[in-house]
This record gives sequence, structure tokens and C-alpha cells, in this order.
Amino acid sequence: YCATRGVYSSPRGTVKIPADPSLSMVRFLLRNASSYPNRVALADTNSGRSFTFGELEAAINRVAAGISRLGVAKGDVVLIFSPNCIDFPLCFFAVISLGAIVTTVNPLYTVSELSKQTADSGARLVITVPQLFPKVRELRLPTVILGPSKLSVAEAAGASIVYLPDLLQSVGDSPAFVPPAAAQTDVAALFYSSGTTGANKGVELTHRNFIAASLMVTAEQDLRGDPPHVCLCFLPMFHIFGLSLVTYAQLQRGNSVVSMGSFDMEMMMQAVERFRVTLIPLVPPVVIALAKQGKVTSYDLSSLRQVICGAAPLGKDIMEEASKIYPDVEIFQGYGLTESCGIISLEVRVEGVRQYGSAGFLVPGVEAKVINVDTGVPLPPNGVGELCFRGDNIMRGYFNNLEATAWTLDKEGWLHTGDLGYFDDEGKLYVVDRIKELIKYKGFQVAPAELEGLLLSHPEILDAVVVPLPDEEAGEVPIAYVVRATQSSLTEADVQKFIAVQVAPFKRLRKVSFIDSVPKSASGKILRRVLIDRIRSRQ
Ligand code: AMP
Repeated sequence: YCATRGVYSSPRGTVKIPADPSLSMVRFLLRNASSYPNRVALADTNSGRSFTFGELEAAINRVAAGISRLGVAKGDVVLIFSPNCIDFPLCFFAVISLGAIVTTVNPLYTVSELSKQTADSGARLVITVPQLFPKVRELRLPTVILGPSKLSVAEAAGASIVYLPDLLQSVGDSPAFVPPAAAQTDVAALFYSSGTTGANKGVELTHRNFIAASLMVTAEQDLRGDPPHVCLCFLPMFHIFGLSLVTYAQLQRGNSVVSMGSFDMEMMMQAVERFRVTLIPLVPPVVIALAKQGKVTSYDLSSLRQVICGAAPLGKDIMEEASKIYPDVEIFQGYGLTESCGIISLEVRVEGVRQYGSAGFLVPGVEAKVINVDTGVPLPPNGVGELCFRGDNIMRGYFNNLEATAWTLDKEGWLHTGDLGYFDDEGKLYVVDRIKELIKYKGFQVAPAELEGLLLSHPEILDAVVVPLPDEEAGEVPIAYVVRATQSSLTEADVQKFIAVQVAPFKRLRKVSFIDSVPKSASGKILRRVLIDRIRSRQ
């Protein structure tokens, strides 16, 4: 900690990002692939398909050639709407190697949620799976369907679709196609996040952001001299954690990534045994489930060395419990945001006693400031304030939203997170609370402003506020305080149903209370904190 600048820096120094300005994410990913051509790069628990590092470049180029035939060019936005499968990263890398931009959407989203993001991002092509096509159809956009199963004749009628295997066949085995180079500073992806306030916004992440984040998150593996990991990825690739920190970062280091369509405890154990998995990134509900079920002896889990938990706070007790059950597995916590390309801090192995509950040290190349929420004055160790970060992993800004960008990234490049925390004397970070509006359900973002907007569209609702309710399993669930119109006989169930039909299941209101007025400041700002504190004091 530098008291004169008020800045914390990483005890691990910095990372060396290659200077070549035309180095794209995909070229960086493949830079060492020829040194280990026979090692598995990507595998899939469902289909059993896999690619070695020696096959990866040709596989990406083939998909890129196919997608470019559909008219996708530099700067175009392509939307991926799919659960994890081996084609997800292939398509992601193929699109960005064309200099085009990927935006990803949670497969649980409803048609209206999907349409909103499609319109906001300006996507002109969709990549999806047959099961999700009924939702995609409504967008009336050209669509690539990932195989192997196909739509029925009735489902496909009148739609502009092409199956990926057919597209690849038309390209041939070795297309004479050289993807155009993307510059480090070009935007590669738009991941959506509500940031500190309001509705979802496209987080502009550049090739350089991904390259930096990938080096930052794997630096500890390099330092420890870890042999190549086999990493299991059931964390959704539509979220920054699954795509940036798991898939991209691990592959660029030469680690193998095993894709799994969705989380299931039994399938996870099977996959560990079958693929000799060494590293599992996961979210707190999975650690809770692991701790609750006790030691599993029906599978050979002896390959497993590390579990890294992130996306939401992991309780100290649960961590200790899980560590007792699996003493040979290191359970680490990390912290990050979509706006930081996934990573900010990571626990590292230190000799002696573990400090459960900390989110670890700043990864190399990230600087921090902890500022007093009222005065903006930087705070020394143990002072709790808003966490701000700077580094090559920090987003360029919010897409088409100068106001939100200026609100979040200050003139010196500091990202204001809306998270509350502090550093201890050793430089370990503790994230203690959130001052931003965001609710996190099992690590997924729920933006109160979105639900409030929907509530206010109901003719019998005069005012509404949505806040988090702590929940043992999910971390937090959204609940609403609603002001009804006089004479209205709306019930809690009516309001819940009104929202449920419009949003993905994880955003549903778990509880609705009716109040006379929403607490607001003199300037009309909702005083969420009053309601949040009231809930906490009752627990
Ligand atoms: P997202 O952009 O969806 O990754 O959400 C980022 C937010 O998740 C952060 O700003 C935090 O509020 C929360 N978060 C992520 N990791 C942690 C962690 N280890 N401890 C506490 N909160 C976390």
C-alpha cells in the first residue's frame, strides 16, 4: 500500500502483455499450441467430441470461414444463445477471429429479455441449439444451429437457418481462408451487466482485456509450476467467469477444458473420474452442496487438486467445512466482475494458516483504491470503503452508453465497483457488502431496475422497489415492496405471476409486500438501503 498515492498494488507485481498491437485473442491463444499438439484442448462430456491443441487452429478457422460466408465481417455483432457445449468456444473464437464481436445470452432468458439484448447490441446473426430455436425464431435473424440434432420440418418452416455441420461441409476440410487480423484494442465481446445501477448494459471487452485477464488469473499456476491442468467447465460460458477465466484463460496456458452442459452433482463426479479433472471453478451454491453431502467415495476423485470459487461471496464456515471433507483439495476464493473481464483477486497458497473468508490478493497487474463512500478519500488498510480497480483487464466502457461509462470509469481509469470492502495489513482483500443495486442469485445477476420497470408497467401498481433477501442456498433472492393503486385488490400471487411470465426463472420475485410509500430521498432517489437494513435487522 502506497500511502501517498492511496493505492494498493499486487504483491505479485505485474503481467507482461505482448506489445504487438495486432495480436488478437485467438493468435495469443494459439501461440504455444504447436509445442503440445497432442494434448487435449477441448472436450465435451455430452457428445464425447474433443480437439487437441494441434487441431484447434484449423477447427476455429473452419468455423470462421463458414461464418464469414454468411456475411459476418469486422465489427458485426453475433449473438450466442446456447448452453455449454464444445461448439460454444469454437464459435466464440471463430467470430472474434473475424474481427467481429460476440454477445452472449443466458439460455433461460425469455423472448422479451432476448429481444432486448439483441436490439441493444445490434446483433445480426444468432448461433443457438435446436431446443432454444423457438425463442430465437421470434428475432427473425439469420441463425446458425449447432448440431447434431435437427429441427422438425414445421419448426424450421420459413426460417433462415443453417446447421453448423452443413456450413462446415460447404467450407471443406482446409479452407483457403485467412481470418482478418483484429487489433488488441478492438472490442471482442459484449457481456451484459447492470453495473452499479439501472438496466443491463453491454460491457465492451477488448482482445487486450481478455489477454490480460487470462495472464492474471493463471499467473499463480505459472509461479507454482503447476503441470497442465484439466479444468471442468460447467460454469456457463455466457457469463464472464466461464468464458474468460475458465475457457479462454486455461486454454491459452495449455490447460485442457472439459465442457459440461449444466451442473449436476453426480455428473460432475463422473466427469472428474473420467477426464482425471484437476481443477474445478465453481460458485458458492456448489460448495454448499458439496459440504452438505459429505465425503463421496463412489467415484475416484483423486485427480482433483484445486477448486476455485467466485461470482458471489463464499461463507467462511462452508469453506472450512468443505476443506475438512476434502483435505487434499485446495479450496480458493476469487473475486471479480464482468467489467474487469472476470478477475480482480485470487487466494493463493501461502504457508501456514489459511485465512478463510478473504477474496485473496490482487492478481498481478491490478491496482486498487478503497474510497470513503461519502468523501471519495482513499482509505488505508482495514478501512472499509468502495472498491475501485485499474488494470489492462478493465472494460473499455458500456456499449453506446457514455453516461453509464462516465459514472463507472473515472478520468484516471478507475473502475468504481459498487462493492464495499477492505484490505488487511497483509494485502488480502475482503469483500463485505454491496452498495450497488445488483442482486446475485446463485452468482447470476438480477437487476432490480429491470424488475421495478416491469412492476411499474402494471396499471394497478403506483410504485415499487426490488431488493435482495439473504438466502442460504442462493445467496440472495429478489423481493419486492409494492405500492398498490387505491381500490386495487392485487395479491402477492398476482404480482409474482405478472413478473414470472416475463422473466427468466431465477429473476422471479420470491416475496412481495405491500407498503404505503417507497422510502425516497428529498431528490426522489429510492432509499434501498432503508429497506435492506430493515430486512437484515429482522434476520
Ligand atoms: P458479475 O459481473 O456477474 O460477475 O458480478 C460481479 C459482482 O459479483 C461483484 O461486483 C460482486 O458484487 C459479486 N462478487 C463476485 N465475486 C465475489 C466474491 N468472491 N465475494 C463477494 N462478492 C463477489
